[in-house]
Amino acid sequence: MPLRPNRPLPLATPAGVEVLTRILTQGPIPRVEIARRTRLSQAAVTKAVAPLIEAGFVTDQPVAVPADEAAEGRAELGIGRPVSPLTVVADSISVIGLKVTPTDLIGVTTDFRAGIRAVRHQPLTDTSAEAVLARLADLATELIGTLDDPTDPAGPLIGIGVAVSGDVDARHGVVRDSPFMGWRDVPVASLLAEKLQMPVVVSNDVRALTVAEHWFGVGVDADSFAVVTIGSGVGCGLYINGEVVSGAHGVSGELGHLPLAPGDLVCTCGRRGCVETVASSDAILARVRETTGRPELDLSGAIELAHSGDEHAREAFDRAGEVIGSALAAMVNLVGPELVVIAGEGVADYDLYDQRMRQAFGEHAFGAAGDCRLMLRSHTFDDWARGAAATVIRSYVRGEPPFHR
Ligand SMILES: [Zn+2]
Repeated sequence: MPLRPNRPLPLATPAGVEVLTRILTQGPIPRVEIARRTRLSQAAVTKAVAPLIEAGFVTDQPVAVPADEAAEGRAELGIGRPVSPLTVVADSISVIGLKVTPTDLIGVTTDFRAGIRAVRHQPLTDTSAEAVLARLADLATELIGTLDDPTDPAGPLIGIGVAVSGDVDARHGVVRDSPFMGWRDVPVASLLAEKLQMPVVVSNDVRALTVAEHWFGVGVDADSFAVVTIGSGVGCGLYINGEVVSGAHGVSGELGHLPLAPGDLVCTCGRRGCVETVASSDAILARVRETTGRPELDLSGAIELAHSGDEHAREAFDRAGEVIGSALAAMVNLVGPELVVIAGEGVADYDLYDQRMRQAFGEHAFGAAGDCRLMLRSHTFDDWARGAAATVIRSYVRGEPPFHR
């Protein structure tokens, strides 16, 4: 099946990008409100929007006006223009997001607003970069097939996002070091783009989740926030001063590798004393197995044991909660976000370390930094893949590589 052609955005100026970003992330939104928030003139907003409407990316959302108000003409504003907020045409484009884990590949297709349309999961047996790239290409091809449903037509596919844990050079699309996958210097974007003849954006998975929260989640209304993920790793994405923090060298927010744990355990990264050595799900499981003398336990067994009140199992989760709380306090003391979103697969069993985590956080958060809200969001693996799609949408709107204008 031939790939659909890319669909370029008619955006020529930074103002156009700003206006489309507002409509995409804050819409439906009236022109006058865009002008107020961007400090552009209403004429400039109208000028920026016109080509987007013409090309079918943006539309005036019809507003139902009560009959009596319409009769009296009260639905008209003083400027003589009906209140018709602008919204993006969700199905004007499609995007694919892929999340790589050592055991599974998760793929989604989304619309322009990062709304998930189709989901596919594939178990992974071989984690070598070569094998995974071949499977990613298969999964993407399968997802491309779902876009052709005549009963539910999707927009043209504009690009593919891939989210991988570890040190990822997003600018060049290279996974520099992913301890979970055992990858070093894998040029995922160029290899996959060649296979699929599509623009590919590769990101650190937690940063991709942060981009999704920034544009399509809790971050829309927050000036600064952090996304902390708890599960097979402990990660952190930061949104500060209007931007998702990438780090000058591509690394930032590595909460899981802060040296806050006892120094005798070796981390997946090879260092000692990292938060993940006691707080990752593998670390918790290892601790429960060791202290209960039950090497056959799996994670759900360990969770069950802790819920049943087993002292040893509880201790492993308490220890994790304490270190996560200290790490949260360290991050909040440094950055001072107004909101911390705690997400990831470990959140389902949050009750097991909630108390100790909050206690340690309270003990170590300095002054008003501790006033930041801690919000729980139960993310699924589909949300990680959606994050990868969000990174594509952001690069597409901004005209950042691989989307040149
Ligand atoms: Zn580490």
